[in-house]
Amino acid sequence: MTNKPVRVRFAPSPTGKLHIGGARTAIYNWAFARATGGTFVLRIEDTDPERSTEENTQIILRALRWLGLDWDEGPEVGGSAGPYFQMQRMDTYAAALERLRERGAAYACFCTKDELDAKRAKAEAEQGGYAGYDGTCRDLPADEVEARIAAGEPHVWRLRVPKDHGPIEFDDAVYGHMAFPAEVMDDMILVRTDGSPTYNFAVVCDDANMGITHVIRGDDHLSNTPRQILIYEALGYDVPTFAHLSMILGADGKKLSKRHGATNVEEYRDRGYLPDALVNFLALLGWSLDGETTIIDRATLCREFSLDRITKKDAVFDETKLDWMNGVYIREMDVDAWTASARPWLAAARADGEGVPAGVTVAPTPAKDELAAAARETHVPGEGVSPEVWEAALAATDEAPEIARGAYPLVIERLSRLNEIPAKLAFLFWGPNVMLDEKSLNKVLRKEGARADEALAACRAVLADEDNAWDAESLQEKCRARGEELEIKPKNLFQPLRVAVCGNMVSPPLFESIVLMDRADVLARIDGVADAAFGE
Ligand code: GLU
Repeated sequence: MTNKPVRVRFAPSPTGKLHIGGARTAIYNWAFARATGGTFVLRIEDTDPERSTEENTQIILRALRWLGLDWDEGPEVGGSAGPYFQMQRMDTYAAALERLRERGAAYACFCTKDELDAKRAKAEAEQGGYAGYDGTCRDLPADEVEARIAAGEPHVWRLRVPKDHGPIEFDDAVYGHMAFPAEVMDDMILVRTDGSPTYNFAVVCDDANMGITHVIRGDDHLSNTPRQILIYEALGYDVPTFAHLSMILGADGKKLSKRHGATNVEEYRDRGYLPDALVNFLALLGWSLDGETTIIDRATLCREFSLDRITKKDAVFDETKLDWMNGVYIREMDVDAWTASARPWLAAARADGEGVPAGVTVAPTPAKDELAAAARETHVPGEGVSPEVWEAALAATDEAPEIARGAYPLVIERLSRLNEIPAKLAFLFWGPNVMLDEKSLNKVLRKEGARADEALAACRAVLADEDNAWDAESLQEKCRARGEELEIKPKNLFQPLRVAVCGNMVSPPLFESIVLMDRADVLARIDGVADAAFGE
């Protein structure tokens, strides 16, 4: 352990999007930096030219920003240990190789791929396994090496692992004391024929040059650690503290993967999760505050996070728990936060609602499991409508903040994800038209017949009276009073109205919804539905 100020890094390879596991690693590094008053560095490991893309880098940065994980040094913010893209650090790897050569700790190897493949095949056939590079070039005379390099012979650079090293030991902050026999470490390649550094070499150079004190990363890198320690030692640099994080498993106990559904961070955004909720949830996949607290806000996380409360047990990604937690965070939003977060979803509700066909359309009632499955799908707001419609929906949403604010009390208690907003609120934007749920039509209107017809007419009269203020409480009271006169029970009075105006039996609070709409539209809906239900 060192007493130096903490410097940690998140070092994604831009070979894909930001995966949930990567996001958790980023959160732990960030929270540890914040809790210790340290520095959180972001470094992009883009040395794989085939698989790294600028687009992925941008997606990763955007996802980190969305999660609210601000980095102190790295792309876009700079810093004194930069550059923060490995491809821009090639001179530092060359300098490190030079240092190793001077220390006699690296040597040129001229063995060709064919030669090595043949040795491997032979070892596998005759000895039941390949023990690694056999050291053919380890002790070539210096003048021969110089001459072959000068002649342009292709070569790699390998680490000269000390023969008498003894076990490679370290105290992992999560896994505890670890020991690996050095004999099984062959003289690994540091620099390839084309001059590019290998992953292990580049990572050690960067972590050392950037003054990283703690390496917090996935345990898929645990087996790289002894090799990296050998490189630190060869360079004569301090070895940082390692903390390896256990795997994240799906509910079926298998490693979290595409099979389990969404795996990258922006898919979660597009399914209506709040960044605060996702950060809280991911923080608890392998770490705990006290073993029981589940709602831990950012401030607490940034104050209390510690490596000694990370568990090495595999963490299980429980989507039901995430939904629950997201609902908690949604309910905690005040109306301003809601208006900001719900904006694209309200615009999607508007685009959906304005897109319904003219008049009354009877829509088949979806099965429960169909609804549940649809709710889990990624729904990128704006996808599926033309850019013009989408721009107009966003603009109209911004121009009508009273609808966002009015919708807040209607649904805030009833959401576990923001992507439920379009289905729940599209009816606000139907104008005079209605998507009429078939089951509700039959049960509440057709089966009830004249009684429902009479109830609708009674409410319609109240809603049509221009002397009645367009106010939820008083309209409801007037309808109720009118129902009493006609001896219609409240349930028999309001359900037909609900189906006529909102299209089904399960809409948000009725009168609070009605007043968010236009009086003429509401009346047109009632007329259209009465006609569809009771007309010839
Ligand atoms: N770039 C590596 C990865 O994305 C991380 C390396 C490290 O954390 O040491 O897996």
